[in-house]
Parts: sequence; structure tokens; C-alpha cells
Amino acid sequence: MLTYDEARERILDRVSPLGAERIPLDAAAGRSLAGEVRAPADLPPWDNSAMDGYAVRSSDCPGEAVLAIAGYQTAGGPGASAVHKGAAVRIMTGSPIPEGCDAVVPFEEAEERDGSVRIPAPVRPRQHIRFRGEDIRAGAQVIPEGTILRPPQISLLASFGRAMVPVYRKPRVAVLSTGDELVELGEPHGHGKIVNSNSHALAAAIAEAGGDPLLLGIARDEREDLRAKLSAGLAADVLVTSAGVSAGDRDLVRDVLSELGVENVFWKVLIKPGGPTAFGLAGTTPVFSLPGNPVSSLITFEVFVRPAVRKMTGSRHPVKPPVKAALGEPVTKKPGKTQFLRVMIESGKEGYLARTAGDQNTGILRTLVLADGIAVLPSERTTFPAGEMVDVLLLYRGG
Ligand code: AMP
Ligand code: MG
Repeated sequence: MLTYDEARERILDRVSPLGAERIPLDAAAGRSLAGEVRAPADLPPWDNSAMDGYAVRSSDCPGEAVLAIAGYQTAGGPGASAVHKGAAVRIMTGSPIPEGCDAVVPFEEAEERDGSVRIPAPVRPRQHIRFRGEDIRAGAQVIPEGTILRPPQISLLASFGRAMVPVYRKPRVAVLSTGDELVELGEPHGHGKIVNSNSHALAAAIAEAGGDPLLLGIARDEREDLRAKLSAGLAADVLVTSAGVSAGDRDLVRDVLSELGVENVFWKVLIKPGGPTAFGLAGTTPVFSLPGNPVSSLITFEVFVRPAVRKMTGSRHPVKPPVKAALGEPVTKKPGKTQFLRVMIESGKEGYLARTAGDQNTGILRTLVLADGIAVLPSERTTFPAGEMVDVLLLYRGG
């Protein structure tokens, strides 16, 4: 049986980013850039004023000086003509520096009266000017391939006039829930029936990971129905199934996937919860068979499916970096499996504190609802004293 790390590596080894598409800049936040971006021009494109004030020739102002106001350069207005010795131009922040000037004096440091401006103190050459190309030089690489586009990258792309950008395609992730006990949300459910909550939970997790969920509904625990719905799911970029992968009599998912030509990469991992998880490939299409238990299905999604989806979206760092947190109380576990402990996170004086969210039984969804993260407790260890620093994967939270 594979360890947690081995299983995740096997998955990441077998998935790759999808193709690229060009989309409007305003739709690109959160997407990964397909290809690098180089600056098409200098930024700023010309020398410009960093202040509202007067553009001057610094050589005119070695000490106190009075200069004639020769023009007015508004933001975006027509350029002022060249400035001669003894003259100044009123200028607004961001406006091009008129020819002949080499410094700006802010309004607060000058006094304007009767068409002249008195500047009481010496002016340093280059003061309050933002120079052409001082931010970015034409031709420089400014956004590397695979970068996730966040507001600062969007700002830069917009500054360069890029209305369309190439990004990696979002994976379409099909979700099939299986089980004779399931009814759909909104359907009446009598004794022994439960609502197919996993499809909805997984759809939300897929969207959070940057994928497009495609809900295929419920397949009954019988070969015909499973075959039809699983093969429909294989048309997506990723197929995720829920339940039917344990060792129960009706746990047919792996069998039918194998009949459909899905190569089994692994089944069962040394983790708790989520041990019965299976991963396979239909050609290059990854197929995840997650346990049916709602807690297990979301946790295995987080640790196995999410990194795969992130990698397919072009992310260069598909594995979420854990944070370090001090355990709020001692924890014990059995050796042999990596345990995912549902924890609540507080930020204390010395960093994060992770307190158990309560009952860790897989049947208890309430403690996953309360959790801010899952602490990853290494396989061979059995006792963890309070205060020990552990790795925590933060879940869905922040702000
Ligand atoms: P199984 O993996 O089929 O043994 O199912 C494990 C547990 O998860 C059982 O209690 C199921 O009723 C429950 N379960 C299975 N599928 C779903 C689902 N789609 N939504 C909510 N619970 C489920
Ligand atoms: Mg079942």
C-alpha cells in the first residue's frame, strides 16, 4: 500500500496542464498564464511628474528663485511646449515632463502669484520625476509562464494594453455519486435513504480548486448503470466518483472502471480517513474514486484531487504549502497511517495554534464543518505533545 506522499506523487506524475485558450483580461483573475509575458514598451512610457506642482529647470533654482509660469500641463492634456530659462510649467501628477525641465517642485513648496512662482529653496535635479522605464524596461520578462493571475498581474497586463490573455483551460471535472441509498437534493427521502450530499460538496470543492464541475447525478450499485454513467464521465478532463470503493459486496466502481479500460494506478493509501481511495487513468484522463463517507470524500479531494486539478490548470505549485501550527492539546494515534486531524486555527502571539475540532470519527461531519484546516500527523508517530509544531493544510478560509 502506498504512503500519503507516494500516492500524491504518483498522481502528480501522471497529470499535466491542459491546453491554452485566449480570454478577456477581466475573466482571467485566478487563472494560470500560458506562456511568459514580456514588456512591449517601457513603463512608465515617458518621464512624468510624481507630484502636482511646477516643472522647472533645476539650474534656474540654485537658491531662492522666481520663475514665470509659461504653461499648464494637465493630466492627459496636450503637451506644454519646451520650457526656456527662467520659466516654469504648472504640471499635474502623471503628466509628461516638458522638454527643458529636469525637476518638479510640489505646490506645497512653492508660492504662485501674478503669473509667477516663487520657489524658496534650492531644487535638486531629477527631483519628483518618475523616469521612463524606471519601473519596467521594454523587452524584460515581467510575468513568468504559469503564474496565477492576481490583481497585480492584471494591473500590469492592463497597463500594457492587453485586452486578451492566454491562460490554461479550466479542467471539466465530472462527479458521479454511486449508491442505492442515495436520493437527489429536493427529492423526498424515506427510511434508509440519504441525500446525495457528496456531489454538491465536491462540486464546491472543484470550483474552489479552479475546475468546472459537471454533475452526473447518481449511479445505482449495479454494473449497467455504472457502466453508462462512468463512460459518460470519462469524456470530461477528470472523473471523480464517490463511494463504492470499499470492500462491500456492492462496491463495483473499480471493477466497472477496469472493464472500461481504466488503468489502476493505486487503490488504498496509508491514510486516515480516506484509506480506500483509488486512482487510475483512462488514457490521460485521471479518475479518482473517493470513499463515500462525506468527511473522507472531502478530505481525499483536498489532498489528492485538488493538487491534480491545480496542476491541470497550469499552476506551477499545485500542492498547497502547509503552515506550521502548535498543537493545542496532546494527540495520540495508531502507527502506520498518516492521520488528517480536523483542527480549528487561532493565531496567537507565537504563530498559529491548532486545536482539535472535536470528534475525529469519519462519521462526524460536524467537526469538518468547524475545522479551519487539517493537521497532517506523520504515519509512524503515535504521540504528539501539546505545543508540538505540526503541518496544517488550511481549508477554504481566509478573511
Ligand atoms: P460507501 O463508500 O459506499 O461504503 O459509503 C460510505 C458511507 O458514505 C455510507 O454511510 C454512505 O451512505 C455514505 N455515502 C455514500 N455516498 C454518499 C453521497 N453521495 N452523499 C452522502 N453520503 C454518501
Ligand atoms: Mg455504498
